[in-house]
Amino acid sequence: MITIPKDLDTKEKKIPLRGMMENVMEQFNSASDHINLHPNIRKILSITNNEIIVHFPVKMDNGDVAIFTGYRVQHNNALGPYKGGLRYHPTVDIDAARALAMWMTWKTSLAGLPYGGGKGGIQLDPTKYSAGELERITRRFTFALADNIGPEHDIPAPDVNTNSQTMAWMADTYMSTRPPAERSANQHVVTGKPAGSGGLEGRDRATGFGVFLTIKFWAERNNEVLKGKTFTVQGFGNVGYWAAYFLELEGAKLVAVQDAFGSIQNKNGIEVAALFKYAQAHKGSIVAYPDALPLDKDDFFSTACDICIPAALGNQITIENAPFIKAKLIAEGANGPTNVEGEQILIKNGVTIIPDILCNSGGVIGSYFEWLQNRNGELWQLDEVMMKIEKKMKESFDKVNKYAEEHHLDMRTAAYCIAIQRIERAYVERGIFP
Ligand code: GLU
Repeated sequence: MITIPKDLDTKEKKIPLRGMMENVMEQFNSASDHINLHPNIRKILSITNNEIIVHFPVKMDNGDVAIFTGYRVQHNNALGPYKGGLRYHPTVDIDAARALAMWMTWKTSLAGLPYGGGKGGIQLDPTKYSAGELERITRRFTFALADNIGPEHDIPAPDVNTNSQTMAWMADTYMSTRPPAERSANQHVVTGKPAGSGGLEGRDRATGFGVFLTIKFWAERNNEVLKGKTFTVQGFGNVGYWAAYFLELEGAKLVAVQDAFGSIQNKNGIEVAALFKYAQAHKGSIVAYPDALPLDKDDFFSTACDICIPAALGNQITIENAPFIKAKLIAEGANGPTNVEGEQILIKNGVTIIPDILCNSGGVIGSYFEWLQNRNGELWQLDEVMMKIEKKMKESFDKVNKYAEEHHLDMRTAAYCIAIQRIERAYVERGIFP
């Protein structure tokens, strides 16, 4: 019997994610205007190269077969293979995948990596499936994507609700479907694998570490110290947790957290390790953490703090909450958390935004090192990895700030200008086939 996946049977369960595509296009167009991008290149970068949609059957634990829909959008590969995550979330659809793939193109270009941009995922709520079901869903998705991904063509990685286990299943499935002599040479088809299976030491913390680094660089630039600064985090997953972990090490204080289940606050500080342990013991939820008070969902962004880290989903800071934000720095751990209208208000209010394509680029930088490690048959140590990530993040941060200052721009527009110009150069040098 064929059934509809459990979480797609009612419309109310889906959270609409409007405007991500409009958002990324407005950001792209405003930077393109600034650099006077050639209209032909603007045309190319305004569309996605390939959009793959696969429907595939998976055996559920109760013996039924459910049909799932998976996406992989490949935006641009002028600088190298498509690169970007796969997310498992009810909001995944073709528009979200398109926007997120575009953001990856700008992110990898800005970081100076030899990659293009891609993104995808499956529209589902992973909390509704057993580990066995998630493994079969992941393996069938990988099989359905087939040669649309590949270590020198399109390299997925973890994203929202996917992790190193998901990548281990993907790598194993992809390698198992190659001819025997090619199997082990294909390990770098995905990055973000567990360290024991070709993964990179430190890839788990790379994104959150990068978020923290950009905040640290910002503080250094402004002659400020992180010790004693207060911060809030939206999303206590991989990115939010590690960013909070490193900030706490520097003496900053976590004062409010919001996740998919609720929000909590404590003016005196929330201990990051204790909250993490609590969330792990409560199905990933921070709700009812004993050393904090509940906070109304709508009051999260207006919490008094110095730094706010949106590290969950897109379109979170909008015209509705931007006027009430008290933080003077927004560090975008998520992709697309601030929409264009929200950003205009923040800029008017003197709030600095470290844009996503810079702020969360530590993840894909870590992925690049993992890919190199696999390709070269090497194994790198954690301290070496962290140093390499810091060096790359510093180069990007300085480059963006220099450009922003010279051209009197905000950091996002500056980051976009640098990213787009690098791709433009590749097109100008190579021309358009035939
Ligand atoms: N999903 C992460 C991002 O949005 C990492 C992508 C990657 O490592 O390829 O940047």
